[in-house]
Amino acid sequence: MKETVVLYPAPGFHHMVSMVELGKLIIQHHPDFSITILVASTPSETSTTSSYINLISNTNLPIFFSLPSINPPPPPPNQDLHETQQRVASAFQSIRLNVPHVLDALRAISLSSSVLAFITSLNPFSDYDLIHIPIYFYFTSCASALSFFLHLPTIHNQTSKSFKELNETLLDIPGLPPIKASQMPQPMLHREDPGYHYFLDLGSRLPKLKGIIVNTFDSLEPHAIKAIADGACFPKGVVPPPLYCIGPLITDAKDRAGTSYDASSECLAWLDGQPIRSVVFLCFGSRGKFSEAQLERMAFGLEMSNQRFLWVVKSPDQGSVTEPDLEVILPKGFLERTKERALVVKAWAPQNAILRHESVGGFVTHCGWNSVLEAVSYGVPMVVWPLYAEQHLNAVVLVEEMKLAIPINMATYNSKEGNKEEVLMVSAEEVEKKVRQLMELEDGKVLRERSLDMRVMATAARTKGGSSFTAFSRLVASWK
Ligand code: UDP
Repeated sequence: MKETVVLYPAPGFHHMVSMVELGKLIIQHHPDFSITILVASTPSETSTTSSYINLISNTNLPIFFSLPSINPPPPPPNQDLHETQQRVASAFQSIRLNVPHVLDALRAISLSSSVLAFITSLNPFSDYDLIHIPIYFYFTSCASALSFFLHLPTIHNQTSKSFKELNETLLDIPGLPPIKASQMPQPMLHREDPGYHYFLDLGSRLPKLKGIIVNTFDSLEPHAIKAIADGACFPKGVVPPPLYCIGPLITDAKDRAGTSYDASSECLAWLDGQPIRSVVFLCFGSRGKFSEAQLERMAFGLEMSNQRFLWVVKSPDQGSVTEPDLEVILPKGFLERTKERALVVKAWAPQNAILRHESVGGFVTHCGWNSVLEAVSYGVPMVVWPLYAEQHLNAVVLVEEMKLAIPINMATYNSKEGNKEEVLMVSAEEVEKKVRQLMELEDGKVLRERSLDMRVMATAARTKGGSSFTAFSRLVASWK
């Protein structure tokens, strides 16, 4: 019987990308194995993910196995949950509803193959124990965020307050610098949030697995990795499961899903014409979008900085779904005034290929972990502007622990003239200051040197004898 590893990514572009890379790594070292990726039909999935799956399917490696569609019942009309929370509640409900389909798929695959391991980046619910296949959790973000999730059951027992209520209180999470409660992942700031319960359950479930795989490497996060491996972030008496830090796994620069051929070649041709390390690249992940008021401040800040820049702008309402009308949403005359030293791209750009380009000297990022690993792999220093999910935590670690980034500060504004509601935004002056600091001042130089050193360490980790190479070999040995 053919030996197979089954991968099941969480919804979201970066989960799929990271799983595909894990599958490729397995096949590269063990061409005799087959890889099957389970694809759930989730209402929130974007066209970017589908186009990426199509792109990868053409290579025949790995095999995609579509789970049957589910029709989640509408979330209960709970007056206390606002729109985002309702959406998150519905996403968690879909994940739960897919469990029987995943079990059916694993049973069906087992009829014709010997399943060596089931690796998921979703909560590996105890339902999966029924089929007696070794279960591994693949954490696609940093070890520092993992340390927090593993420590969550302990925090939960120490206080009855939510992170929202704890607010400025500094949390002591093993392996992490002190971090404010308000900087914890957004979908779990309130105790009644569905995200809070999902991750609390995840934290309790992980110690029972065959192993935890993390897309990071030893020299990037030595303290957090040690805290997990030694068991410091687990509740007392819990034996830590084996930990495999196998990263950095990043997308192939050739897999330019979501980018039209024209956009791709336009960006790279433009970069070819710029001096070495002179361009600051601004891009905020698959979902990072800003209000028109914030876009205006960013535009003025970039203009005042006098730096060369390549900026990916999403539509304020629709994100990646539709292309924005740049003439309408950016300040009048901005494109004309900056055209000699800037390129503004609509909605999506080939980020990996851009970060790899020698003309790029800095990256303003939302701190999504894939973006961070891409910057680290190419030695590009960062300005961190976290937006959602666990990105605020990633930002603190990038600045305080890894020392690869400069933070950007927010200020409070009234949302509209005469309107009392306050919103947080970054001022044009702050954008100008941080971009200049990154690109022309001493702080930027120091970060650049450290980033280039880290690039060398990232490569070393993945080559024979390196920490990630060895961890991956241990992982495969655990299947036999
Ligand atoms: N990405 C891209 N072009 C874009 C925006 C994003 O290629 O215009 C890619 C980026 O290179 C990364 C992924 O999408 O591989 C985003 O993953 P990340 O974890 O950084 O952020 P998320 O989208 O999950 O917030």
